[in-house]
Amino acid sequence: SVRVRFCPSPTGSPHVGLVRTALFNWAFARHHGGTIVFRMEDTDKERNTQESYDAILELWRWLGLTWDEGIELGGPHGPYKQSERGEIYADALARLRESSYTYECFCTNDEVDARRKASGSKIMGYDGFCRELSAEQRAAFAGEDRLPIVRFRMPDGSITWTDLVRGDISFESEHVPDYALCRANGDPLYTLVNPVDDALMEITHVLRGEDLLSSTPRQLALYGALVELGIAQETPKFGHLPYVMGQGNKKLSKRDPEAHALAYRDQGFLPEGLMNYLALLGWAISGDRDIFSLEEMVEAFDIKDVNPNPARFDVKKADAINGSHMRLLSTEDITHRALPFLKTAGVVSDPVSDADAQLLELAMPLVAERINKLTEAVDMLGFLFVDEQDFTRDEADVEKLLTEDGKAIVQASHDAVAGLHEWSTAAIQEALQQALVEERGLKPRVAFGPVRVAITGRRVSPPLFESMELLGRERSLARLQSALG
Ligand code: GLU
Repeated sequence: SVRVRFCPSPTGSPHVGLVRTALFNWAFARHHGGTIVFRMEDTDKERNTQESYDAILELWRWLGLTWDEGIELGGPHGPYKQSERGEIYADALARLRESSYTYECFCTNDEVDARRKASGSKIMGYDGFCRELSAEQRAAFAGEDRLPIVRFRMPDGSITWTDLVRGDISFESEHVPDYALCRANGDPLYTLVNPVDDALMEITHVLRGEDLLSSTPRQLALYGALVELGIAQETPKFGHLPYVMGQGNKKLSKRDPEAHALAYRDQGFLPEGLMNYLALLGWAISGDRDIFSLEEMVEAFDIKDVNPNPARFDVKKADAINGSHMRLLSTEDITHRALPFLKTAGVVSDPVSDADAQLLELAMPLVAERINKLTEAVDMLGFLFVDEQDFTRDEADVEKLLTEDGKAIVQASHDAVAGLHEWSTAAIQEALQQALVEERGLKPRVAFGPVRVAITGRRVSPPLFESMELLGRERSLARLQSALG
């Protein structure tokens, strides 16, 4: 049966590439009724932080990326934090060393570099200098107080595999130098711990980013040794997911602000909207269909359909996709999800008062259709809930629309609605239409812009006449008046 892994390193703020990888693993495993193992790759003591660890878990929970075995849950192959598996790695390393899959290397980086320069070799990495040292040579080096590291002895010949995404791949062994499995102080490296854990956790499919493609031939060779030693049962299949490109067609990096996954939650993305967008980074459900649910993704997901070409990360498209998911929600659901944002921003009281709740019920239907993210509800609804003395207008919009002409329009609007018998959307609309479009001959777009800024403080707002009805006669007139000042 299928077993995949989530294995992030808790360094820095989790980025969207990490989530894309996790999502594809998740969809693959769920499609096949497989098992997802969550292992924390926290061996890098200098770069790990608790903050990053917590952020990853928070993100996974928000997105609904569930797992079956691993951190938090436990399971038969624990512990699931690499920092707690030191003995397991020491044992695996000892067995590799006993069987001569490795050798001790005493070289310094400078020595390796100098030899490369002298020989004119183009091949980066280690040149195998310490491969066949005699016992005397080793003793001599040790006598110079050199601390050896342990290197894996790459087998001769080429290393090939059929990548689940990219098809047949082959590396000549001369391009895959012998590599270090642990530091001189004995600390094991990623090169050792990642395959050892995949072996012991019986991972069947490794789906990960293309940036790790060059470590796959090394890992396959190590796997060969682990299978011979009986530590691994079988070599997993590998699939390398395409690069995600950011601005200027450069690889999206942790430094790009749009790469921070939790920022999407904070901007008011829906988890299903973000996941839908990330699914499109290398995969498509069918033809030109962009919007789908996670259930539909699971149902349709086939790793063979992943496109090996780099995928472009497009924030605008992510927004639009999220907006489409908003349209699938009931107003009640949007209100429920927007509430934390509205509370934090102080738009509504916390806990929500009856008056705020009533107003929200009337106002949310006006904006639900127009927003792509939950935070936009904050921007759009603030004007209705704000105390009159705290009401402000967007400065740029004021400058643009409350000009002399604009103010004349606002004045005419004030006069047109001041005496209305009935304060309703229809009556307001009729009065403004009459005064501005018919009598003054203005185009609706020109006519209502200044009124909108006067009433809501912004050019982008819920529909104007409905907004005025909800705001009430007194406050509407006050705002039309104050816009003239
Ligand atoms: N912890 C590694 C990383 O985050 C995982 C690499 C892998 O999937 O093999 O880069």
